[in-house]
Parts: sequence; C-alpha cells; structure tokens
Amino acid sequence: MGLIKTLDALHPKARTVMEALIEGFKQRGIRFAIVETLRTAAVQAAYYAQGRQSLDQVNTLRKQAGLYLFTKSGENYKITNVTHSSHEDGFAADIVPVLPSGSIPWNVVEYPGMWRAMGDVGLSLGLDWGGTWAPLNRAGIGWDAPHYQLMR
Ligand SMILES: [Zn+2]
Repeated sequence: MGLIKTLDALHPKARTVMEALIEGFKQRGIRFAIVETLRTAAVQAAYYAQGRQSLDQVNTLRKQAGLYLFTKSGENYKITNVTHSSHEDGFAADIVPVLPSGSIPWNVVEYPGMWRAMGDVGLSLGLDWGGTWAPLNRAGIGWDAPHYQLMR
C-alpha cells in the first residue's frame, strides 16, 4: 500500500486526460513528478485525521495505510476537508514541478510561475486545477496546487 503514483491506476477516462497533461508538460520542457494518483480509503482516512486527531492517532492510521510515520506534531496539520476524495475514484492526480536541483518547490509562493505554467496546461485540457481553489495565496494560487481532477 502507501502512495500509488502510476497513471495506469486511474479511471480510464481520467488516465487519458492525465496522459495528455503529462505530454503537455514534456512538450513545454517542464520537469515534473507525479506524487499520487489513485488513493485507497485507508490513505484518505489518515489524511482526514491530520489536524483533527492526536499525533499518535494519526500515526496509527498512517501505519495502517502504509504511509511513513510523522515524528513531530508540526507535521500534523489539516490537508483535506473531505472524507471521500476524487483520488479514491481514480479521477485525480497530484503532480508537482521539480527544480533544476531536483527538489520540489513545495512553498508555492516562492515559485508561482512554475506552478502556474503547469496549472495552465491542466486548465487548457479542461481539468479542474486545485491551484484555482480558494483560499488563494499572495501569489494568487489556490491551496491545492498539485491537484488535477477530471470533472464528472
Ligand atoms: Zn489531489
């Protein structure tokens, strides 16, 4: 278990669009990494517990889901507001830019251009991009910038 990162795991309709998204990144010379595609209910339960339950309780769920364990309470903050995610149905993928150094610019406000360039590709394919979801940061990018979702 743990994180699933292959496009093959997605719903066939979503997989086709996500493959086009990946192709669009490649055509533009954008370096990227797929972080997560299909998500098990166990992983979503662990994510939902984050910021709502104690570090021990969250780690119990993370262990059950095959995720690495948090070592400090600072990692235990809210990351989702839904108990059921479109990832669980195979309709979403989380994809991030990769810097020339090989690291991922998780602090979106420091590299808004990289995140927006990717988001624009997704939007051009009719995908819902989490970078448009309020609240927006001071660079004008929404709170879930890695997230691309096929609307049903
Ligand atoms: Zn996502």
